[in-house]
Amino acid sequence: LVRLRARLARSQGSLGKGLLALLSRDTLDEEAWEDIETTLITADVGVAPTQELVEKLRTRVRVEGVSGDQARTILREELIALVNPELDRTLKLEGKEGQPAVVLVVGVNGTGKTTTVGKLARVLVAEDKHVVLGAADTFRAAAADQLQTWGERVGVRTVRGPEGGDPASIAFDAVKQGIEEKADVVLVDTAGRLHTKTGLMDELGKVKRVIEKAAEVDEVLLVIDATTGQNGLTQARVFAEVINVTGLVLTKLDGTAKGGIVIAVQRELGVPVKLVGLGEGADDLAPFDAEQFVDALLD
Ligand code: GDP
Repeated sequence: LVRLRARLARSQGSLGKGLLALLSRDTLDEEAWEDIETTLITADVGVAPTQELVEKLRTRVRVEGVSGDQARTILREELIALVNPELDRTLKLEGKEGQPAVVLVVGVNGTGKTTTVGKLARVLVAEDKHVVLGAADTFRAAAADQLQTWGERVGVRTVRGPEGGDPASIAFDAVKQGIEEKADVVLVDTAGRLHTKTGLMDELGKVKRVIEKAAEVDEVLLVIDATTGQNGLTQARVFAEVINVTGLVLTKLDGTAKGGIVIAVQRELGVPVKLVGLGEGADDLAPFDAEQFVDALLD
């Protein structure tokens, strides 16, 4: 936890510090509020949430009056409200009737899907869960090898098929294997080709439908690369249109000062951020916590 805070703070502190400096100005005139808006939009908070936040801040500053410490307190409160601490961010990992829970991990290639599956497997194994991996990303040649390497590292089986094989049938095999082994969780890595929306829809839809012949899909985690900003948001929208996303994973938060994307993407898709990626290493995956996140921003 301490480490998460330190890392987020290191990467994103600029947003909080910048805002606090602006809010601490002697006179909060129109120009100051515009600067505050620009700072938030630059940090990828998104235009609508920014306007909402600034409106609330302005009102509270007017009504309550403001000094340095109070400014920090109201900024913290309003940022937490924007991140929405009420959302249920627990991973749904209770399979139905003795079946393994099935987690589909989707997203554009390069966002960190395979890495996230590996890290998540490690977390679950550490919790004594029996995990099976499904290498249904048959588009990227090295993806299955990469996943298997993660699997070997954490000591779980990786079900894979022939290169260029049918992702749906590999996903199905992985789930079948999970059922046979009485696994707790099957994590399925998928390919993220954004060639055409219908192509993606066909592929992901088929993967999900075929899996559901064997077991229910409990989570569909959409992986978004935080460093791609508004572009990531656009991609996320396409995925959300083609599959029922139940949670977001924001990766590479260690590499960006634009932590505001958390707010924008969650708002846009109406789906909670459940996990964040904070590095390439096996331990660099953390559950998302709204207050902790905002405190890191403001640190
Ligand atoms: P995929 O194509 O979506 O499966 O993406 P990969 O899992 O292969 O990841 C793409 C690259 O991003 C790899 O070099 C990963 O090590 C790196 N990566 C993934 N997650 C993170 C993260 O949270 N932080 C950083 N800095 N790099 C990450």
